[in-house]
Amino acid sequence: MRYARNFVISTFFLFFLSSTTSIITAQKYDKQVESLAREIESQVIDWRHWFHENAELSNREFKTSKRIAEILTNMGYKPQINVAKTGVVAILNDKKRGPVVALRADIDGLPIKERVNLPWASEMTGVYNGETVPIMHACGHDTHIGILLGVAKILSDMKDEIPGKVKFIFQPAEEGAPDGEEGGAELMVKEGVLKRPNVDAIFGLHIKSGLEVGQINIKSEGIMAAVNSFRIDIKGKQSHGSRPWNSVDPIVTASQIVNNLQTIVSRNMDLTNAPVVVTVGAIHGGVRSNIIPESLYMLGTIRTFDVNMKKQVHKRIRNIVQMTAEANNATATIDINKGYPVTYNDPGLYQEMFPTFERIAGKENVNIIKAVTGAEDFSFFQQQVPGIYFFIGGIPKDFDPAKVADHHTPDFYVDDSGMLLGMKTMTALTIDYLNKTQ
Ligand SMILES: [Zn+2]
Ligand SMILES: [Zn+2]
Repeated sequence: MRYARNFVISTFFLFFLSSTTSIITAQKYDKQVESLAREIESQVIDWRHWFHENAELSNREFKTSKRIAEILTNMGYKPQINVAKTGVVAILNDKKRGPVVALRADIDGLPIKERVNLPWASEMTGVYNGETVPIMHACGHDTHIGILLGVAKILSDMKDEIPGKVKFIFQPAEEGAPDGEEGGAELMVKEGVLKRPNVDAIFGLHIKSGLEVGQINIKSEGIMAAVNSFRIDIKGKQSHGSRPWNSVDPIVTASQIVNNLQTIVSRNMDLTNAPVVVTVGAIHGGVRSNIIPESLYMLGTIRTFDVNMKKQVHKRIRNIVQMTAEANNATATIDINKGYPVTYNDPGLYQEMFPTFERIAGKENVNIIKAVTGAEDFSFFQQQVPGIYFFIGGIPKDFDPAKVADHHTPDFYVDDSGMLLGMKTMTALTIDYLNKTQ
């Protein structure tokens, strides 16, 4: 009894001692990280403006990756270039023993003409699927580059105190490689970016135009959906529009297919399990009012969070397309692409790292959100190693949220002030993980 009591007391004392030590350690690091982050902040903002002004398309981030490599070299890193075409990878403490954390930033812009009145607005153009287009950082990946370069500087200043290795991954083509090309996180994984040294955990973030600066949005398990795009080609028989009885009308067939596809979500899916989205986003067919065309094609997207539901949706789509075409005497082919898997936050790692988010952002600024039906190719990294993906705020407090432009639009804007929390959080996650995993 006495032994048991002593044991309890001494265990409690040890626990108290060790938790006190880790709090002191964390606070000591937090102060250092805070002051190093503030020191580098204006430089990070300048970098961000340069990357914004020089936005480049997916798999064409030539100037972007060259500049990233130059900045990393000036910090003392020996960056590896041309990883997955235009990616850059650098390692801190390459020779040090210990666990390995990877941090990822995506670096590509989008074929959109910027409408925001900024001195550093983009006037870049490029070729996208054969067409000359304007280019803009309309998803905020310029801030991701700035944040990760800032973290690389802070951690290199602290490198002797960092108990492990850190791999900085600057990833091209998150928005999707041009038609017929490989790219993005999937190609990086294929080229072995998570190996040599083997990565133990990976962290990634996305800035968000609809979220106030200083806030973090996060959840355990599926945070973003799996995506599959599809293309349906319908072939009928052309005729004069005044004599439809001579036709096999692909437009009527397509209309029925669009309607029938709606029953997948409303009648086939157990929505109490997980959400599903099926959207037809484009129908291309016909040229004149008085011609029934021979063929047309439709494009669409599928969002799922559950592997079995995903299989079921694909099966139903194929079935509905075939059967509806057949019922109209038309023929149809459907191509569903491989897409991205679910962006899945590892529950164990989430539980372990959640206190870090609360400590750095403040408890009241960490929001546990519902799953987002957008998709992210960060999911390919998380299929290989445990990872956490989260959102940080990008609009200042005085902005009217109703007037905030969405991602992928010409008026999209995120503020420089959002990057500081991104730098501090990524740095603290790295240090805390490496300390815990000793
Ligand atoms: Zn995007
Ligand atoms: Zn994005």
